[in-house]
Amino acid sequence: MSEFNLVRYPVLPLRDIVLFPGMIAPLVVSRKNSVRALEHAMAERCLIFLVTQREAGVDDPQFGDLHTCGVLASVIQLLRLPDGTIKALVEGKRRAVVATYLEGEDFLWADVEDRPDTESDRPDLPAFSRELRRIFDQYAKVSRKKIPGEIIKAVGVMENPARLADLICAHIQLRVEEKQALLEIISLPERLQRMLELLYREIELDELEKSIEVKVRKRMADNQRNYYLGEKVKEIQQEMGQGTDDFSELQEALDKKDLPEAVREKAVREMNKLRAMPPMSAETTVVRNYLDVILDLPWQEKSEVKIDIEEAERILDQDHYGLKKTKERILEYLAVQAQVDKIRGPIICLVGPPGVGKTSICKSIARAMNRKFVRLSLGGVRDEAEIRGHRRTYIGAMPGKIIHAMQRAEVINPVFCLDEVDKMSIDFRGDPSSALLEVLDPEQNSAFNDHYLDLDYDLSEVFFIATANNLHGIPLPLQDRMEIIRLSGYTEEEKLRIAQDHLAPKQLERNGFAADDIVFAEEGVLEIIRRYTREAGVRDLERTIASICRKVARDRLKKKEPAEKYQLSSEAVADYLGVPRHRYGLAEKRDEIGLVTGLAWTEVGGELLQIETALMPGTGKLTITGKLGEVMQESAQAALAYVRSRAMRLGLDTGFYQKVDIHVHVPEGAIPKDGPSAGITIATSLVSALLKMPVDRQLAMTGEITLRGRVLPIGGLTEKLLAARRGNITRVILPKENERDLEDVPEKVRSSLDITLAEHVDEVLSRALLLREGEELFRDIPLESIYHDVTLSTHNIPVQQIEIGH
Ligand code: ADP
Repeated sequence: MSEFNLVRYPVLPLRDIVLFPGMIAPLVVSRKNSVRALEHAMAERCLIFLVTQREAGVDDPQFGDLHTCGVLASVIQLLRLPDGTIKALVEGKRRAVVATYLEGEDFLWADVEDRPDTESDRPDLPAFSRELRRIFDQYAKVSRKKIPGEIIKAVGVMENPARLADLICAHIQLRVEEKQALLEIISLPERLQRMLELLYREIELDELEKSIEVKVRKRMADNQRNYYLGEKVKEIQQEMGQGTDDFSELQEALDKKDLPEAVREKAVREMNKLRAMPPMSAETTVVRNYLDVILDLPWQEKSEVKIDIEEAERILDQDHYGLKKTKERILEYLAVQAQVDKIRGPIICLVGPPGVGKTSICKSIARAMNRKFVRLSLGGVRDEAEIRGHRRTYIGAMPGKIIHAMQRAEVINPVFCLDEVDKMSIDFRGDPSSALLEVLDPEQNSAFNDHYLDLDYDLSEVFFIATANNLHGIPLPLQDRMEIIRLSGYTEEEKLRIAQDHLAPKQLERNGFAADDIVFAEEGVLEIIRRYTREAGVRDLERTIASICRKVARDRLKKKEPAEKYQLSSEAVADYLGVPRHRYGLAEKRDEIGLVTGLAWTEVGGELLQIETALMPGTGKLTITGKLGEVMQESAQAALAYVRSRAMRLGLDTGFYQKVDIHVHVPEGAIPKDGPSAGITIATSLVSALLKMPVDRQLAMTGEITLRGRVLPIGGLTEKLLAARRGNITRVILPKENERDLEDVPEKVRSSLDITLAEHVDEVLSRALLLREGEELFRDIPLESIYHDVTLSTHNIPVQQIEIGH
């Protein structure tokens, strides 16, 4: 290197690019030294030496950090950006090699020598050039880096091999070191050679990469395709295999089914719709379900009905003990039905406490008439749509309960038991009883319209029977259509007979015993009735008998002895059932003051109801507790008003109520109670407390009271008397007006009780209160003072009610 060929230039270190002669490149320069070097070159209009760093990461490169071969370039443009950096456009001019780097004040300097290409006249150069152009063309096609069209064109027409090489160098993707190495090759043929090698390699690599990618993609695509095809095939198979089968099955079922003309037309229309639908659509399921409902429903199928009254009587007697009146009414009803070809007139409604055999009578009726039996519980139904169904446009729509029950019945003329008609409620979604009215109306029910079915359905051959616990719970329009048959509870004797003759044999059979494996002796059964169940019907009794059967079965297996006969004595009952659940008899042990036994009617039968009164010094406040309903509270006030009006006759100070607070309580305070029939009981309790006279503990009473002390009739007489008997009561006081109802009370019950019929509370008091020797209940008082008292009693008495429990 000769000294005088050296020229000094400012140095611009490049981090990660290599500039070639003939290449125009934009640079963004932020290093202070570089900025100054550029500014200097621009100002002096001199060239600048661009040289690549050995390591791109070095921020302040010293001599050793820089290659020695670089390019002298001119600065075409400088653009200062607001943040102090400079955007420069430079054009590479020619190769140069550094002789010495020099430390300047503001930037690096270098003494460099030009390095023109050598062997640039070799004869094989044109051939190299041609090959290079061809290969570059190929490279441009396969390269991932998109090479601009004008460059491809420029390369295609470039004759000068040196320029060609540099141009191509500028546009192929190579690592920085490879580019630097190319720059450093001064021999032109050698450089071209090297470039060809690199291009070959790149193309090959590219191709390899591509083929790999293609393969990978292909594999992925294949997998996906296979999966997709597999699924499709599965679907097609399903549709073709099962699908067509299903259609043909459905069609076959439709052809076979006996349908009214209108229904068949509709079904065929739906069937055609189904066929035209895309197989997997949601709609198909809807249409399909609908067709299934039509096919499931009985439209013409019937049981052959016959009513043989003697046979019916035999069946009713066989299935049920007692219930004489009920059976008679039912047989009369059946006799009428036997004479007409269509069911006419009101439907039977059996009303009575749970477990008295309402449902099982319905079953017997079905048996007696040779009809099938279905039961529909209406308890808790509050929405018309539950009876009548939802329109099919609703998602998940279904037919209503009536149609659903008919599906179960499988014939159009079953005995249809509408259970618990009194337990329906009305809410904003419509009144279910109005739908029921249509069902029960013989004028309308031949064309019952279920919203889901949307076809007239004939219910006119159905034999409806309703059951209820409480007549008051049945909406009046419904009651109008019904013939009410009441069933009251059973007496102890009846229960005993039912248990021994019906329940025990039934449960023995159900639990796999022979008929005489367990002998339910009278004392054992009575023990169960008295101390383990307290009910009007026999439901708990049946349950308890079943439970004993299970326990005996277990014992028998445990002992692994040959089956022995069990005798169910009262001790055995205690062994199996543990501590008795109920006290036997509720009559008080002593005659108490202020404590009177009333007779109450509840849905589950009659009950004994104790009413207590306590007095304490005070200001005339009346407190009534025990979760009493409005009617019962009013009845307490009426009772007090009566007592006040009679104060003088009873020997009480007319102002007595101003000096005491009265508290009337009805125990079992958590159970809501209501009704007027405790009126005379409350009055008796008040008088007993005020006069400090004890009440006959063997006595129970029931009756409504008026302000003038008249005793008004009450309902549920049989239930109440049965409860009295269960509770060991021997004497009862009843309203006189209930006398005629006594006929309905079983003779045994009637004759076992000492019954007093009262018209006025005075009679009640005389009978209930126990007087000591020489004591008198009433005094003779002039009539005027009584009226004076009556006026007084209309004064408002403050009432405070405390509710216990919820
Ligand atoms: P309900 O419908 O009134 O609540 P069920 O019909 O369910 O009562 O009767 C409960 C059980 O008692 C049934 O097993 C029934 O056979 C039986 N049962 C009720 N009354 C009698 C009776 N008089 N004779 C025989 N079994 C009876």
